[in-house]
Amino acid sequence: HSVSPAMQNAAFEALGLNWRYVPLPVPPGHIEVAVRGLAALGFRGANVTVPHKQAALRVLETPASPLTEEVFVAPDAQALGAVNTIVLARSEDDTIIFSGHNTDEAGFLGALRDGGFEPEGTSAVVVGAGGAARAVVFALMAAGAETITILNRTVKRARALVSDLSSAGRMAHPRAIQALPLTRETLTETVGGAQLLVNATPVGMWPQVDASVWPDGVAMPAQVTVFDLVYNPLETKLQRQARASGANALDGLGMLVRQGALALELWTGEEAPVPVMRRACEQALRTQARS
Ligand code: NAP
Repeated sequence: HSVSPAMQNAAFEALGLNWRYVPLPVPPGHIEVAVRGLAALGFRGANVTVPHKQAALRVLETPASPLTEEVFVAPDAQALGAVNTIVLARSEDDTIIFSGHNTDEAGFLGALRDGGFEPEGTSAVVVGAGGAARAVVFALMAAGAETITILNRTVKRARALVSDLSSAGRMAHPRAIQALPLTRETLTETVGGAQLLVNATPVGMWPQVDASVWPDGVAMPAQVTVFDLVYNPLETKLQRQARASGANALDGLGMLVRQGALALELWTGEEAPVPVMRRACEQALRTQARS
């Protein structure tokens, strides 16, 4: 169901590049052989998605053959503990250089700012504590958010995220971030005093389109901007609830496009045609909805 092939292939075409982006399912446990095989197959790069992002980082921390391979993990991927983009290059002596990056954090921030929201000095509530929430929380902290509340069904996971942020030296001050269990009360109370609500869970994603993390019958505070990372459907129930209360709502496609644009720029060195990429995603989602 990924729309990334449509998005990246439209961008290559717009840039006049004879490149192709192909989806390659990798069974669990086979990520190392898949990553190493990219060089033999002539790939210039790859995206890595769930559930392989953490394992891909481990693969890129050690060269399989130090005589013919070099590996490098960029600070963004190192800090998040996950790789979503791999770049392959060859040096003059034919050494293959693998580098691992993570464009999710910058992609989220880019999309948030595209939507007119500047996180510096704001209070944010992030629902979820998985891989996407991690990128969101790291991004908000780096951009100078004043306070962040992480609400998760499994509170232990939210606490682990706070502790990772602290050990990564990303915490502005110790009271800046808190982890709480996700309940109707914690959500409505914390959002009442916040400027940003991010849904970083799959709640509301197709086919469960009638689900939302926000309770029915409760008005969303109008001062809040809602950023739903779910992009299928393009308008989720959470976004509709926000708009019905006069709050601003941003869709998850903005982040998908921004992280993809950053990956494309790493692979090709060209400036990404962002509007072309967004249109291709919208078209792919419409086609999927019809089939
Ligand atoms: P993940 O690592 O599996 O984490 C999922 C998170 O959602 C966990 O915190 C989980 O809570 C929570 N969750 C799952 N089902 C829930 C439910 N029914 N009620 C409450 N909480 C629930 O997944 P992820 O990679 O972080 O992705 C999360 C979402 O973000 C997905 O929908 C994904 O498609 C989307 N995403 C979008 C973009 C984009 O570019 N727009 C990028 C990345 C991800 P527990 O810890 O309690 O299980």
